[in-house]
Amino acid sequence: MMPRGHARRSGRTLNLPAMFTPRSIKHCRACGSPVRYAVPADDNRERATCTACGTIHYENPLNVVGTVPVWGEQVLLCRRNIEPRYGLWTLPAGFMELGETTAQGAVRETIEEAGARIELQELFTVLNVVRVGQVHLFYRARLQDPHFDPGPETIEARLFAEAEIPWEEIAFRTVKETLVRFFDDRRRGQFGVHTADIG
Ligand code: ZN
Repeated sequence: MMPRGHARRSGRTLNLPAMFTPRSIKHCRACGSPVRYAVPADDNRERATCTACGTIHYENPLNVVGTVPVWGEQVLLCRRNIEPRYGLWTLPAGFMELGETTAQGAVRETIEEAGARIELQELFTVLNVVRVGQVHLFYRARLQDPHFDPGPETIEARLFAEAEIPWEEIAFRTVKETLVRFFDDRRRGQFGVHTADIG
């Protein structure tokens, strides 16, 4: 995962949770001059501050939104066609865009990555990944049919029963956490909203 403000992201899907790197901004997005990290007046932490025009560039966590799409007893997973974690399986998820709600973003990512038609259900997990400066939110969702049309970021989209989940080939810890809790709740016969901090 690259920090907020990077100009070129490799894709819209969930990126590798690499170490979050503060002091990642080098140049001012307003005028292109070098920035320096300093604590502005009336602030309490270092910010990237332009040495020429004085613009302060704030860096804050990014939201990743996705779904747990279900068809009967099965859950939809997507096999990644992009780095990082090429070839591993993920729930459909990606970075929230400006101008959309978390729910809209989750539906959009599900369409983009799997070509799946869903009826969105309740929020299911809210996972803090402080290490990379991200919050991941997954909604439960009901597939309207079992036909998929994966986008370019996905090698294959397919349904898995719980016993078939490739636990050793799951791309991201937040996806694994969400799947574990989903099957636990389903066994209990009651779905809640789960929050956790993922190291
Ligand atoms: Zn500037």
